[in-house]
Order: sequence, then C-alpha cells, then structure tokens
Amino acid sequence: MEMLIGGAKVGASNNQTIDAVNPATGEVIDTFPSASKEDIERCLEIAQAGKEKWGSMSMDDRSKIMRRIPEVFRAHKDELAELLCREMGKPIYQCEDDLEVTVGIFENIVEEARHLLGSSFMDLSSGGELGDVQFTVYEPLGVVVCIAPFNFPYDTLTQKVAAALIMGNSIVIKPPSDVSLSLIRYTELLLEAGVPGDVAQIVTGRGSVLGDYLVKTPLVDAISFTGSTEVGVKICQDSAPYLHRLIMELGGNDPFIIFDDADLDLAVEECWMRLRNSGQTCCSSKRYIVHNSVKDKFCEKLVEWLKGFKMGDPKSRETDIGTVINEKAAKEIEEQIAHTVSQGARLVYGGQRDGAFVTPAVLMDVTKDMDVAKDMEIFGPVFPIIGFDTEEEALKIANQTIYGLNAGCLTADMTRSLRVASKLKAGTVVSNGCSTWRGPEIPFGGYKMSGIGREGGRYSLLTMSQEKTIAIRRIK
Ligand code: NAP
Repeated sequence: MEMLIGGAKVGASNNQTIDAVNPATGEVIDTFPSASKEDIERCLEIAQAGKEKWGSMSMDDRSKIMRRIPEVFRAHKDELAELLCREMGKPIYQCEDDLEVTVGIFENIVEEARHLLGSSFMDLSSGGELGDVQFTVYEPLGVVVCIAPFNFPYDTLTQKVAAALIMGNSIVIKPPSDVSLSLIRYTELLLEAGVPGDVAQIVTGRGSVLGDYLVKTPLVDAISFTGSTEVGVKICQDSAPYLHRLIMELGGNDPFIIFDDADLDLAVEECWMRLRNSGQTCCSSKRYIVHNSVKDKFCEKLVEWLKGFKMGDPKSRETDIGTVINEKAAKEIEEQIAHTVSQGARLVYGGQRDGAFVTPAVLMDVTKDMDVAKDMEIFGPVFPIIGFDTEEEALKIANQTIYGLNAGCLTADMTRSLRVASKLKAGTVVSNGCSTWRGPEIPFGGYKMSGIGREGGRYSLLTMSQEKTIAIRRIK
C-alpha cells in the first residue's frame, strides 16, 4: 500500500519499503513505504496550506462532511476488521468491536461539538467600563501530528482525528509500523467520505526515524501522541525548542486491589480485561494486589478459569486469544516473566511462547520490591499476584509507581471503596471492578508519567483547539 500525501497515493521518494507481516503465520501481507525526510517536509507543507482552508470553513460545513465518515466506515467494516486481524493477530470479533467503538467516536464528537460553549464575562474587569463585553471562542491549533499505538489503532487514533478535524485542524497521521496497512486504509476512507486530501494525510515508516522529522520542525503546531512513556518523554524533549502543543497518553502499570470481603468470582470475571487483546491494553489491570487471606483462593479460581479459553487462529470465531503484536514483543514478555521469577516469584500457570503466541501466565509470591510491582509494565496476558495485609499497605503498593493511568478496587464495603478511590493516584479509578474503563465522553488520561492532558468527548475538543478572548469595548 502507499501513503496519502496531498490526496495522492505515493511511495517513498527513495523507493524504500517495509514488509507488513501477519504475526500469526509469519506471512508477508504487503509492503508500505519508509518515508524520507523530503516526503515528510512536503507532507507538512501541504498540511500547513490545508489548515487555512479547513480552519476557515464553518463548523457546520465541516460537520456535514464528517457525518459521512461513520457511514463509509460501516460500509467497509468487514474489510477493515479483517485487515486489522491479519496485521495484529487480534481475534476477529475483537477487531469488529474496535470498529464499532471507532464509528461511535466519530458520531459522538460531531454532536458534542455542537454544544461546546465559550464563556462571556460581565464588565467587572479592573479598569473596565459600562458597555464592555468579553467572550471566548475556540480556534484550531493548526497542523496536528497524530501518532498512534498498535494496540487499539482505529479507536486510539480516532480519539485524536475526530476532535482535530471537527475543530478545524489539518492532520498528519503516523501509524504504528505494525499496523500501517489498516491505518492507510482508514485514511483512504476519510478521504472517500469527503475530507480534503490536504487536510488528512498519512506517512509511514519507523517511528525511531520519522519521529525526528515530525517533531523537530516548526511546520507542526501540535503533537498528539499515544504510546509508551519512553517515547512520550523523547517527543517532549525534542519538541521543547518549538513549544508545540503536546497531548500525551502514555503507559501504565494499573493496580487492581482485591480485599478479603470481595466477591472472588466477580474478581476473576474482571480478569477478562487482561486477556482481551492478549493483555495489550493500556488500562488493563497489570498488578493484582490481593489480601493475603484470599490470595490462594483467588489464584486457584483464576487458574481454573484461564483453562477455559481457546488460543489460536485469530480469524476463527472460536478463538478467544490471538497473538501479541509480533514475535519480538512475545520474547520480551517471556523475558519479563523470567526476570520476575529470577527475583523470587513462582510461575504457577502458563507463560509459554510459540512464535508470537504467549499463553496467559499467573505469577504468585510477587513481592512489593519486585520490578513488576513497581514500574515494569508487561504488555501481555500476565497476572502478577501481590499479597497485602492492611488497606494502608495495599494503597502504598498501588501508588509506588511512576505511572498513574487507571486503577480498580473490589470490596463489599462501599465506604472503604470510596476512601480507597480518593487515595489512589490515577486518572480514572474504578470502584467495584478492575481498572479497565474508558467511556467515550469521560476525561481519560494519566497522572504522573502516564500522560499529560485528557481525551474523550468535550475534553478532546478542548485539547484540539485554543481559546481566544475577544473584548468589545464601550458599547453605548
Ligand atoms: P510505542 O513503541 O511508544 O509506539 C507508539 C507510536 O510511536 C508508534 O506509532 C511508533 O511508531 C511511534 N514512535 C516510536 N518511536 C518514536 C519516536 N522517536 N518519535 C515519534 N514516534 C515514535 O508504543 P506501542 O508499543 O505502540 O504501544 C504500547 C504502549 O502504549 C504501552 O506502554 C501502552 O500502555 C501505551 N498506550 C497508552 C494508551 C493511553 O491511552 N494512555 C493507549 C494505548 C497504549 P513505530 O511503530 O514505527 O515504532
């Protein structure tokens, strides 16, 4: 497949390509371009021109075009889901779910934008006069580079794209290398719906190379990034001389605290959110902090429950668990399990690797000093179980990390649940469930090194615009 620059399908000017590989079979599906610096510069210059045209249209005119996007995506739903399934190894029905969420985000954002109200102020400012009127309007940021992660590529990208477009920005998409084909097709469909070719563009290639061209430049006004904290920090450092507006949705090591009075069957059911997408979910619970009196029982029930899931061909509707994103990632998970065992944990179930497939793993005897209990995020289907005796100790373990994305807590005592919720250092806290929760309208984002800013509905609109105050003086 090819990139989309200025509405035209183009290869890299240096003719270089990268293979897109199916992680379940090792088959090369297709190739995509490895863009050069010149390609990126040309794309950004086109985006600069595109922002003027799109930003000066009324929001109503933009919304007329954007209302066609859900229709076009629904018409291509099967094709988009199948392509994602081949590129990612994610079970087909989960790829279809991603598409539904994506379409919903486009539908919601256009409605939400109709209700984005500014502020007006009385003539109370110091030095003001009777007849002064002040009010605010939202204006576009300009050219927004949207960098997406591989795990939920359609929907994490859409959190950026939908809000950026309706607020009048032009966008340049940088897809994850492992899911480039799906997002090229996604961008083609934006254009098919009527978004102009100088307003939505996509460039492909390794982030470690393209990152410099997309970040270290004055041709960009904002960067909206979702991905690892490590890359997020690099982008912040590299963009400092330009003071780009930055939106950062980063990594996490979410805690799930299970108290002694918790319904353990519900606790185990909630573990599905760690299995879905082979554990590659930013806000899945990655640390199971379980009261010592119920830890063994929980572990026993979890292991029994895990035996009921089928791992295999992602295309089959019988499959619950597919691959992780690629063999390299699977090896990293294997190494992180081995590292935790070398620190004293016991692998009581699973954790075997075959190519890019990793069986769900349960680790017992994990202590609060181990890396996995603090800052080592495992992006795979792994359940480290850490014991605790007191509420204070559970909170201390939960908060002893650089991350603060989501957190969850399960107890029959709702007063305790709310007390714990108020003390957890996380952007979203789920009471009576695991940490995985992200509605389209709520503000989603992390505390500490899990991010800067919030996405979701109205919050995305605010993030993708700048507020201007207009003061009219002396109306008499
Ligand atoms: P990643 O390795 O950081 O990559 C994310 C994106 O950044 C990819 O498109 C990647 O392109 C690109 N990239 C890599 N190096 C870059 C650089 N120097 N400059 C600019 N862009 C660069 O993350 P990932 O493996 O895709 O995703 C997993 C991580 O994302 C986890 O930590 C997860 O928790 C986090 N995540 C967070 C959220 C959230 O909402 N907070 C949501 C989803 C995932 P290439 O693929 O070409 O390297």
